Amino acid sequence: MSILPPSDKAYVPFVSVDNMMKLVHHIGVEQMLIGLADYIEEDFKRWELFDKTPRVASHSAEGVIELMPTSDGEVYGFKYVNGHPSNTKQGLQTVTAFGLLADVGNGYPVLLSEMTILTALRTAATSALVAKYLAPKGADTMAMIGNGAQSEFQSLAMKAIVGIKNVRLYDIDKAATKKAAKNLAGLGLNVVECDSAEASMEGAQIITTCTADKQYATILTDNMIGAGVHINAIGGDCPGKTELAPAILDRADIFVEFPPQTRIEGEIQQMAEDHPVTELWQVMTGAAKGRTSDAQITLFDSVGFATEDFSALRYVRKHIEGTEFFLDLDMLADPDDPRDLFGMVRRAAPK
Ligand code: NAD
Repeated sequence: MSILPPSDKAYVPFVSVDNMMKLVHHIGVEQMLIGLADYIEEDFKRWELFDKTPRVASHSAEGVIELMPTSDGEVYGFKYVNGHPSNTKQGLQTVTAFGLLADVGNGYPVLLSEMTILTALRTAATSALVAKYLAPKGADTMAMIGNGAQSEFQSLAMKAIVGIKNVRLYDIDKAATKKAAKNLAGLGLNVVECDSAEASMEGAQIITTCTADKQYATILTDNMIGAGVHINAIGGDCPGKTELAPAILDRADIFVEFPPQTRIEGEIQQMAEDHPVTELWQVMTGAAKGRTSDAQITLFDSVGFATEDFSALRYVRKHIEGTEFFLDLDMLADPDDPRDLFGMVRRAAPK
């Protein structure tokens, strides 16, 4: 069944960066993170409906460009996203993205949106949603290692969804930590700037790693991780790019989005192909257990999966309804007679 509204001219709503920022302020950043987490959870709970494939990645020495498609049978979506860790040296973002939803019934696009901001929001909402299931009860302190573009979103989502009160920041680049601390000031979190990764982890029940470096990095070594913590590992998300020492993976119970993709891109690329993992959708539907003891180390080996982007686009599509936060994009040819495409072009010739 078509989900396009009847209209003489089929315009595609387009959400620009400017309009995305307006939408964020209109809804409120924490409210939007909560709303996105709800949509993401809803879609994880109907996991079996979705077309699922590891993302299609084009690697280079500098980074990666990826396409992330999925469909729930009624709506199709994809995201274009890059990851170029050295971009920031040239004043460019490490990660930029845009995405699209289309009507499966007729194949027509129904939304085109910027997704650089939306990816930061959806990644943070997913982290916090997963921490809600896996972090120790009453967790109030998070270590935030890597204070780049994603870090404030990660911190605020943990506040809004998990109830984190203290964020302990660390980055090898002090300027990044200063930037994050300044951005988070006055937003209801107690923010502490730390001089080392170890210091940032003092008293933290949740440890988020969100660094960018195309190498097998060891942001966390085995001796740094005590019993009972939840690790939210965001930055290791493509082949040859990891953040955790393999010994931590041996001690942790590992939770993943879509195993065929995570085994290629996540921390577990360092482990045997059959290293045990639990799928998040199973935890969310109650088919598998999440945290089972106080001493357990839980690890969300996050790489970002297409359904999360689909959920985020679905959220945006719903929330721009009745607002001015989009432009009508003329990107669908619509000749009066569908077979007269050439005639339409011919009639448009300059007189
Ligand atoms: P960014 O470049 O803006 O920030 C990365 C920060 O990490 C920088 O401030 C850098 O100084 C710091 N850093 C590098 N090495 C470090 C180390 N050893 N210790 C401490 N800090 C260190 O990048 P970003 O947009 O914040 O993204 C961070 C990472 O998250 C990237 O690798 C990106 O690919 C990944 N990411 C994952 C998902 C997901 O869904 N899992 C989504 C978005 C981004």
